[in-house]
Amino acid sequence: MNPREVLQYISASPEPDFHNTVVFRRLALWRERYDALQGEAEEEFRSELEELRRAVASDLEQEVAPDRDPGPDLAPQVKERASRLGFAMTGVVRFDRKWVSPEYRKHVRFNNLVVALSEVPAAAMDSVPSRESYLAAFRAELASGKRALAMGDFLRGKGYPVQYVYVPLAGRSLALVHPYAVEAGLGQMGANGQLLSPVEGSRSTLVMLSTDAPMSYDKPVDYGINRLCEECRICVERCPGRALSEVKVNWRGVHKHKINSDRCLSMVARYSGCNVCTKVCPVQKYGLAEVMDHYRGSGGQVLGKGAEELEGYAMDGKGFQGPARRPRFGVADGAKGFMAMADKWGVPVPSTSASEARAYWVGRRVRKTGKNDGATMM
Ligand code: SF4
Ligand code: SF4
Repeated sequence: MNPREVLQYISASPEPDFHNTVVFRRLALWRERYDALQGEAEEEFRSELEELRRAVASDLEQEVAPDRDPGPDLAPQVKERASRLGFAMTGVVRFDRKWVSPEYRKHVRFNNLVVALSEVPAAAMDSVPSRESYLAAFRAELASGKRALAMGDFLRGKGYPVQYVYVPLAGRSLALVHPYAVEAGLGQMGANGQLLSPVEGSRSTLVMLSTDAPMSYDKPVDYGINRLCEECRICVERCPGRALSEVKVNWRGVHKHKINSDRCLSMVARYSGCNVCTKVCPVQKYGLAEVMDHYRGSGGQVLGKGAEELEGYAMDGKGFQGPARRPRFGVADGAKGFMAMADKWGVPVPSTSASEARAYWVGRRVRKTGKNDGATMM
């Protein structure tokens, strides 16, 4: 990451809340046509979801104990409580406003941010993409949201107010979550665009809450994930939507494998949340320590690379895709291929920005010709 470049992008062209983007609205339209899973899950957990949403929406009105805990640093207590509640990892950072969506800049309160990570059960990955895996991830997010409420109660019981910043399923998403998770040392970004934590890999879900309780801050940790990803690249090669750029691009100040969100979200909506890039990641399957040990012990081999148990997946209507196969999306799937499916079904025109489209097409040209224009695509 180039911090000065990041700031330049944030001030000149801040990113809105994802839920307010055309890409997201398009996802909802796709879901309505193709996949009723979200509705099914919402129906099944209706009362729990309503309770979660009510509690999150009323965060600043909830009662706070009159006496504040006089401790100079509540971070150890908060982490101990988070662990007892079932969070796999918890970190604390200063609530730097630069990742807050512009719509909410005037609404955010408090300067300390608790970022907590929960596990999505490993069993949910075996059948990705499927109804079962989708519902298992939904349940994990709901459980994580309930833990966030319990954390809020704990801090209010200590005399400190709480604002929920990011609680999936509760409609609360005031800021991007991944930069803070990295800052808090919970992991690093993988080539699949997800946070890879040392405990669950990408098989995790995050919540964030802010408070003015005094807490010491954590620091980012280099777990070696960026280097591992460059050797591994399984997710890039296995992504059925060809949505992960094969070359790293400079995206808003960060050198990364960029997700083509149009391609990815079309897959997410059509194939039960997709999530193949999580399933095939060796870090979620075997754990970071084991993958690193194997890498060192084998002179540079990535654990599970090429193995059917890691790389294989089945897709509705496409059959089993072993390590050497990826599904193809042709005329039968929609006009001239995957990107054209939206037009065929009357979904509004893609929102892909010019720069995002360029990143994709440049990546495609590099694959074909082996020539690279350089790291910067903007
Ligand atoms: S969710 Fe599916 S389409 Fe999107 S990046 Fe992951 S594997 Fe690719
Ligand atoms: S599959 Fe490999 S390249 Fe992709 S995120 Fe996991 S470790 Fe990184």
